[in-house]
Amino acid sequence: MDLSIVIPLYNEEESLPELCDWIKRVVEKDYSYEIILVDDGSGDRSWEVVEQLSYENPHIKGIKFRRNYGKSAALNIGFNESSGKVVITMDADLQDSPDEIPELYRMIIEDQYDLVSGWKKQRHDPITKRIPSKIFNRTTRIMSGLKLHDFNCGLKAYRKEVIKSIEIYGEMHRYIPVIAKWAGFGKITEKVVQHRKRKYGVTKFGLDRFIKGYLDLISIHFISKFGKRPMHLFGALGSFIFLIGFAIAVYLAYAKFFLEEYRMTERPLFYFGLLAMIIGTQLFLAGFLAELISRTSAERNNYLIQKKIGLKKREKSKAEHVEQ
Ligand code: UDP
Ligand code: MG
Repeated sequence: MDLSIVIPLYNEEESLPELCDWIKRVVEKDYSYEIILVDDGSGDRSWEVVEQLSYENPHIKGIKFRRNYGKSAALNIGFNESSGKVVITMDADLQDSPDEIPELYRMIIEDQYDLVSGWKKQRHDPITKRIPSKIFNRTTRIMSGLKLHDFNCGLKAYRKEVIKSIEIYGEMHRYIPVIAKWAGFGKITEKVVQHRKRKYGVTKFGLDRFIKGYLDLISIHFISKFGKRPMHLFGALGSFIFLIGFAIAVYLAYAKFFLEEYRMTERPLFYFGLLAMIIGTQLFLAGFLAELISRTSAERNNYLIQKKIGLKKREKSKAEHVEQ
């Protein structure tokens, strides 16, 4: 199959028929395709609409969550179920235009990109959303080293290997390009896409999206850097702080016995030294425990293998999805 189009939706009953119609018009002739509609626990009639659409067009498939788990969860399950060579995600609210699909497909197949991310250069959102979004994109750019203008765009295209190699949860859908880059998929680019006004319904995210977004960025940053070697962070930091405290203690003891007579507790430095030694030990122990945990973790050897030669293909884990 050429194309899987994964669409997370939460209370979008009005948009769905129009959206699916439009996608069908664009892709029907030139591609073998599937549209995977993931109903993220909608409370309206969305699922009935999905059933109806799927009945009319067998290329349309659907999954329904029992409750609302969030956009990342919806995308993740859509990815697991998809079987196209190119996977395209888009929002269900008609803000992304299906007319972009052929060009995105071409960029993955002909230009050999691993991931193409949409860039809503001309946005039709209120200013209260555009400004935080600018700040957010800038920080993410700096922290990830990935030169994209619009991380949060719902319209993105992926080579199949990319989405079969990564797992997203929480609010991490904003960082799929970052996660993909850290997983070793280097050919990532962006394409300016049209953005349209929301035609039906209301936005599902408030301003708290940015706070949650930052926390997730920090956690994926830490997990990718130190997740498999926590001792390198905590052990080093702990030892360093402990040594400072120890040096202070040695100095104070020396000063007391050889330089001047005083009571240890009179000197503020004494408390600093004590505190540093205690905190240093704590950090070191935290690192050691984390190391023990990661040693027994089932994921400790989940490498991403790109290719093999002369060896049998073993479908063992998600991480070992191999291009052949
Ligand atoms: N969405 C979802 N689960 C949620 C929230 C949103 O599947 O918990 C879907 C929503 O239906 C839409 C897409 O994610 O298809 C983007 O949401 P929205 O348009 O509200 O975000 P915005 O365009 O305001 O960034
Ligand atoms: Mg939207």
